[in-house]
Amino acid sequence: MTESKEHLLHWLRDAYAMEIQARELLEGQLSRVENYPTLSVRLKDHLEETKEQARQLERCIKMLDSDTSGVKNALGKITGNLTAMAAIFSSDEVLKSSIASAAFEEYEIASYKILIAAAEHAGQSEIANICKGNLLQEEAMAAWLNTHIPKLATDFLVRDETGIKAKV
Ligand code: MG
Ligand code: FE
Repeated sequence: MTESKEHLLHWLRDAYAMEIQARELLEGQLSRVENYPTLSVRLKDHLEETKEQARQLERCIKMLDSDTSGVKNALGKITGNLTAMAAIFSSDEVLKSSIASAAFEEYEIASYKILIAAAEHAGQSEIANICKGNLLQEEAMAAWLNTHIPKLATDFLVRDETGIKAKV
């Protein structure tokens, strides 16, 4: 295997671990945002996308004659911190977890950009195309969060003032 293919495989496996983390983060958030239906629906959609992204990455890894066995959590620290941040039981948890989500999407975007460049460099155009598909979904999710976070903050403040508690 050439050096550039080896890097590509390594980074695909990292991305696979990233998507498993993404799935866990989304599942955790979904259990705590039922009073924010717009957010809840979007998170559910992205959870389904995330599961499919992991399957697509598995396909890519197989194209390079490898598999996902022994994939380690390459981003332990960053996601550990994000998850911990999202798990804080404070009344504004929905906002804290939105910050974590937005940060996570940016992490995914940068990761896929690197993967696309690496796949193209290694002459793996099919892998590059699959990663481009995943990238579009991450960019759409990041854009959605950035658009909706101000309204989420306002909703939270209004609820807080009227004493309606979000399930946090
Ligand atoms: Mg993802
Ligand atoms: Fe994502």
